[in-house]
Amino acid sequence: MQFKDIIGQETLKKRLVNSVKENRISHAQMFLGRGSVGKLALAYAYAQYINCTDKQNGDSCGQCSSCRKYAAMSHPDLFFSYPVNTNYTSSSKATETRVKKDPVSADFLADWKNYIDEIKGYPDLFQWYQRIGIENKQGFISKEEARKIVHQLQYKSVEAKYKVLIVWMIEKMNEVASNALLKLIEEPPDNTLIFLIAEEKEKLLSTILSRVQIIVVPSIETAKLQSYLIQQNPKLSEIELRDIANLASGDVFKANEIISNSSEMMENYELFVEWMRLCYKKGSLEGIKIWVEKTSKFGREKQKSFLDFSLRMVRESLLLNYGNDQLVKIMGHEEQFLNKFAPFIHMGNAQAIQEILNQAIYEIERNVSGISLFADLSLKMSRLLKVVPPGR
Ligand SMILES: [Zn+2]
Repeated sequence: MQFKDIIGQETLKKRLVNSVKENRISHAQMFLGRGSVGKLALAYAYAQYINCTDKQNGDSCGQCSSCRKYAAMSHPDLFFSYPVNTNYTSSSKATETRVKKDPVSADFLADWKNYIDEIKGYPDLFQWYQRIGIENKQGFISKEEARKIVHQLQYKSVEAKYKVLIVWMIEKMNEVASNALLKLIEEPPDNTLIFLIAEEKEKLLSTILSRVQIIVVPSIETAKLQSYLIQQNPKLSEIELRDIANLASGDVFKANEIISNSSEMMENYELFVEWMRLCYKKGSLEGIKIWVEKTSKFGREKQKSFLDFSLRMVRESLLLNYGNDQLVKIMGHEEQFLNKFAPFIHMGNAQAIQEILNQAIYEIERNVSGISLFADLSLKMSRLLKVVPPGR
């Protein structure tokens, strides 16, 4: 991974490059930030840059032996650690990685390499769990793993100047393992760099936090994310991608999710517009009945997705209404509708509407049947939409 492959984050890249130029690379650093903003990519590119034997201005060369091994994740002095779990089931195929007990990162190295390659260095925890078939469990970094790491790093580096350990999602390390890591940070073997990646500061041991240099990785700048999305999705319109970049709040994983869900979003949008018109119009009982029948036939996931979307529309309307339109994150086609719809959402009904939508989501999660749920919800919604705004 090279710095040039990283979306935005120019300030941080400069800072990391300077630390190498000025020969003040801290041996334990933590890349901290929410979501897919490039924490792992930065740590990875930084490590590659440090060990590159032919550094170009501000980036690794991508050509030298070290860079090539880094790119293939096959460098003998580069170690990764990430949350895993057992994933053996009786129906496992022989071709898949299947681990029955004491799972450690090394068991899943091939999956990890493929995954990081495929998502270009911007992993997402739940997607990783899905990839190795542990989405119904929690991944963790075990004490066996920590022991293994400590052991591996005691050896002299094979060919690079620095051995590098990158731990992704350090919050998934249990306490015993964290203490082993802490010892490693306190008494590091020679020429060893430890880069920790974390999302939630609150979940980390204060002893670790106090011993690492913390690099806060902010959201990706919207304009940078937009140009990246345009380059990756030549078939989509630039305006649409601008909206998606805006909606994703600087998180590349989210942006890609929105792109893949945009057809679902379009359906939700059309369904919502239809629903709101029916609920507001007088004498549309027959129309509501047809709408309810249609919607109750959808699967649970689709119904939930629709109600989540409805909640978002209500929230955005409220923001729009009360003059916080710079906070509104909507797609182009939604804007026109929301401008007309927003006045119907106000302090006199917004809370109740959100409550009935949340209640419906809760019931769907508990398998409550569709027709009565959506019929009841529509009646309540009709009533609430007709509430007169306070002060009018
Ligand atoms: Zn190089």
